[in-house]
Formats: sequence, structure tokens, C-alpha cells
Amino acid sequence: MNMIYDLIIIGAGPAGITAAIYAARKGLKFLVLSQDVGGQVTKSSIVENYTGYQEITGEELARKFEEHLKEFKFDFKETEVTNVQKGKDGFLVETEHEKFKSKTVIIATGAKPRLLNVEGENELKNRGVTYCATCDAPLFANKDVAVVGGETPLLSQRCS
Ligand SMILES: Cc1cc2nc3c(=O)[nH]c(=O)nc-3n(C[C@H](O)[C@H](O)[C@H](O)COP(=O)(O)OP(=O)(O)OC[C@H]3O[C@@H](n4cnc5c(N)ncnc54)[C@H](O)[C@@H]3O)c2cc1C
Repeated sequence: MNMIYDLIIIGAGPAGITAAIYAARKGLKFLVLSQDVGGQVTKSSIVENYTGYQEITGEELARKFEEHLKEFKFDFKETEVTNVQKGKDGFLVETEHEKFKSKTVIIATGAKPRLLNVEGENELKNRGVTYCATCDAPLFANKDVAVVGGETPLLSQRCS
């Protein structure tokens, strides 16, 4: 608890891992606190929009992220962050059993889709029901799709 990190990164999905690689290359003294390594990308069967890879499984991509990260020396704890507080000298980051001090914090805890909670949604998840236009829209090209939410008031549109 006496140690004051330059940076604490919360989350080790693609965003947190990328932040960690940059922090390591800058020679910062930093700590990564995350419930897992890889984040949501590990759940993706095939990723087709990551530059340099025409097609790669999410698991393989996450493994490559992890391999890259392992080239560097830094502190890592697999744990859930329960609280972040700003004090006058920086931040206090809390997990269930520990507290850490840092000058700066990057929160890279991702986002979760807001589910509709309607009948059939769970059964049809990734079989027609999708939550990521960037990832999956091309799969529905020239098909009739229903769009729920988003920035346009369209309820239904032809995907092209
Ligand atoms: C099934 C599926 C398929 C996908 N396919 C694609 C695709 O083909 N192409 C594409 O571009 N994107 C795809 N995505 C989306 C992509 O995975 C996400 O955009 C990306 O993972 C977001 O990265 P992130 O690092 O911001 O967050 P996340 O990947 O969500 O990572 C968040 C990290 O924060 C950690 N965390 C969260 N809360 C806490 C806490 N309180 N304490 C400690 N750690 C915490 C989590 O354990 C995790 O490690 C897909 C997502 C899913 C679910």
C-alpha cells in the first residue's frame, strides 16, 4: 500500500492490454487489475475485422494479445475492482481484499449490451440475434433485419 503506481489499468480486454503495452513501452510503473485476460473477444468465434488478420478466432487473437503483453514486466492481479476514489494525491483503487494507490487510472472495463429480455432472445443469440453491428452486419447483407435501438429511429431496415 506504500507503493504509488504511475498508472493502474482496470480491465485486460483488448483496450486494457493495448494500454498496458503502451505503458510498458513508456517505462511506467503500472499495475493491471482484471477479472480475466482477453475480455469479450475470447467469446468471438471468428473475427474478420482486425487489421492484419483476414480471419482469426477470438481465442487465438486474445492469445496473441497475451503473448505480446508477456514480453513486458509489470504487476498483474486477477481480481475484481470494487471501488475507485480520487484523493488529493491521486487515486485509491480497491478490490475485495486490497487497496492500491496510483497517480492515474485507466478504466478499460468494456461495455455490455442492454438485453431486450424477450422470449427467444437467449436461444437465438449469435444465431440471428446479434449485438454488434461492426462485427456482424456483413453476415446479414441483403437480408431483412430488425434494428432495436441505435442512433437512428429506424425499426427495420434492409442491411446492405
Ligand atoms: C460473441 C462476441 C463476438 C464479437 N465479435 C467481434 C468481432 O468479430 N469484431 C469486433 O470488432 N468485435 C467483436 N466483439 C466485440 C469485442 O469483443 C469488444 O468490442 C472488445 O472486446 C471490447 O474490448 P474492451 O477491452 O473495451 O472490453 P472487454 O473486452 O469487455 O474487456 C473488459 C475487461 O475488463 C474486465 N473487467 C470488467 N469489470 C471489471 C472490474 N470491476 N474489475 C476488474 N476487471 C474488470 C473484464 O474481465 C475484461 O477483462 C464481439 C463480442 C462478443 C461478445
